[in-house]
Amino acid sequence: MNQKVAIVTGASRGIGRAISLELARSGYFIVINYQNNIHAAEKTLEMVREYNSDGECVQFDVSSAEQTRIAIENITSRFDNIDILVNNAGITSDDLFLMMSENSWDSVVNTTLKGFYNVTRPVLQHMVVQKHGAIVSMASVAGIMGNRGQANYAAAKAGLIGASRSVAYEVARLGVRVNVVAPGLIDTDMMRDLPVKNIKTLIPMARIGKPEEVAKVVRFLCSDDASYVTGQVISVNGGMF
Ligand code: NAP
Repeated sequence: MNQKVAIVTGASRGIGRAISLELARSGYFIVINYQNNIHAAEKTLEMVREYNSDGECVQFDVSSAEQTRIAIENITSRFDNIDILVNNAGITSDDLFLMMSENSWDSVVNTTLKGFYNVTRPVLQHMVVQKHGAIVSMASVAGIMGNRGQANYAAAKAGLIGASRSVAYEVARLGVRVNVVAPGLIDTDMMRDLPVKNIKTLIPMARIGKPEEVAKVVRFLCSDDASYVTGQVISVNGGMF
């Protein structure tokens, strides 16, 4: 198919859904990845279609090398180009570091960092051949500042920043831009699980962010308006950092 295509991981809910809708407004066919929540993914697809765009729901666990390999091979074999990849899938499993289980550490690091490796490499191979593409990965203010109870999450998000900046250097001359967005506290299911009290006092703008406010920055970074922007980390956090 000769159509502008965007792959968004973790697009069934929250920030990933908002990104899917922003990119749908710009005419992209959206590959809506999800892990478990088929009904939410189908809702995202229904909303994408309300913007007169189209898409498809594709289940795979980004932390699984095998599932991701099969899914990305299938996607890239059906489309001429993959224009955009948004590595958005992420989880938290919070605990103080002294109490943190190996499973909490591994699940968070594997979803974010192994997920980046699993999804980005095969898509990047495609983008380098087609000589264009934009990749945006979702870090967090925690990956920059650290956060009590989130050593696993902060480590994974800081790693994502380092990996993205490195890959950006490697492919800058090959037509592919690689950037990171680092949200603060955004109103999604994930934030509702955070065990932090009085979070509004932490935010200079004194309010939680909306998923759409992150999505608009992602859309900018993916667009030609950001044609000279690569290797950057853009914070969307109401002034937290
Ligand atoms: P969310 O509402 O919890 O949604 C998470 C999404 O990721 C869902 O679509 C989920 O799929 C998917 N997902 C989780 N693990 C996956 C896996 N292994 N493979 C594929 N998909 C997977 O989270 P969110 O708040 O929108 O967060 C999106 C991104 O922004 C994450 O990377 C998060 O770390 C980052 N972020 C969020 C905040 C915040 O305050 N919300 C702040 C900073 C950064 P299912 O629906 O199928 O479970």
